[in-house]
Amino acid sequence: MENKAVIIDLKNISISFDDQPILKDVSLEIHDGEFVTLLGPSGCGKTTTLRIIAGFLSPDSGDVIFEGKKINGVPAHKRQVNTIFQRYALFPNLNVADNIAFGLKLQKKSKSEIKKIVEEMLSLVNLKGFEKRNVSSLSGGQQQRVAIARALAVKPRVLLLDEPLGALDLKLRKDMQSELKAIQQRLGITFIYVTHDQEEAMSISDMIVVMKKGVVQQVGEPQKVYDDPVNLFVAKFLGTPPINVFTGRVEGEKLMIGDEAVLDVKGAPDGEVYAAVRPEGFILDENGPLTCKLSGVEVMGRDVSIVSRHKASVNPIIRAIIGSDNKVDTASATVRFSLKPHKTFIFGKDSEERIRFGE
Ligand code: ATP
Repeated sequence: MENKAVIIDLKNISISFDDQPILKDVSLEIHDGEFVTLLGPSGCGKTTTLRIIAGFLSPDSGDVIFEGKKINGVPAHKRQVNTIFQRYALFPNLNVADNIAFGLKLQKKSKSEIKKIVEEMLSLVNLKGFEKRNVSSLSGGQQQRVAIARALAVKPRVLLLDEPLGALDLKLRKDMQSELKAIQQRLGITFIYVTHDQEEAMSISDMIVVMKKGVVQQVGEPQKVYDDPVNLFVAKFLGTPPINVFTGRVEGEKLMIGDEAVLDVKGAPDGEVYAAVRPEGFILDENGPLTCKLSGVEVMGRDVSIVSRHKASVNPIIRAIIGSDNKVDTASATVRFSLKPHKTFIFGKDSEERIRFGE
């Protein structure tokens, strides 16, 4: 990824609506050919960022750079960017082929060229044989594929996708995720995708951009962001089941949860912290330092999920995922764990920023 050229460079973008700041100093480099996902809770500014890249909105300050050239004033239709929305806005009275051909006709391509591209696109989205069908007779997934074909037919350099699978049911959504990823890889076009679904983002993206209240929190490959979150918000936003958060403190380079010293945290300063442990960060250990009240054990096949409670836990329950070859004494009132240092993160109590330890 590192040696790919930057195609879109957002520099210090800010925008307010009704005096409410919506994007605050957003800077972001997007590399050519990457599948980049803007991820964050509803209202954090993902769609607004896309609309600025598309040219539907002008930022109050900051620059949008496309391949090294400032394009702030360039109107949407002159940008080499196309957009697919959740409501895909096909032309209901046109058939599939005419929907796909729409942008090509505007570009005044010849009939034979249009025919060739429409055929290419139909085969790309697996809709060969559907060209004469009226789009309103198609299923949601098929309509979404027509929208993808229509957006790609004009060969944009960048495709913006705003929750394009949001209206589909779960099974179709999963299938379409894989299809989109395959199409993106085959064409090598830059995709900028918006979702609030972290599992979707993790599974399809080369890079994720985690946003909160108009501020970019962290940018990176999904696994790296999961393994190395910069703050508590990012740690909590990624992962299913969610990360387990405890209130605790650091005392003499030991992480204390309640009265128990649960982990050596070399180099961490004394103070109040949040300690966050990924579900796979617990080791079942009868002499382990973290003692929790056992609530139950859920069998998941390859793994088991141990459900427990602790006074210092911020989440109502603690969920530890361990291999099913571990034997849990379900008759016991308590369960004891030790913690994997690379799956345990600590954050300042006030700042919620990561405090690094060990190395
Ligand atoms: P969602 O996942 O719900 O689509 P989002 O992260 O895409 O959320 P945006 O659509 O970018 O969020 O909206 C960010 C904030 O800006 C929201 O509070 C929204 O109400 C507000 N907003 C967006 N567009 C406008 C507008 N034209 N006028 C006023 N407020 C707006």
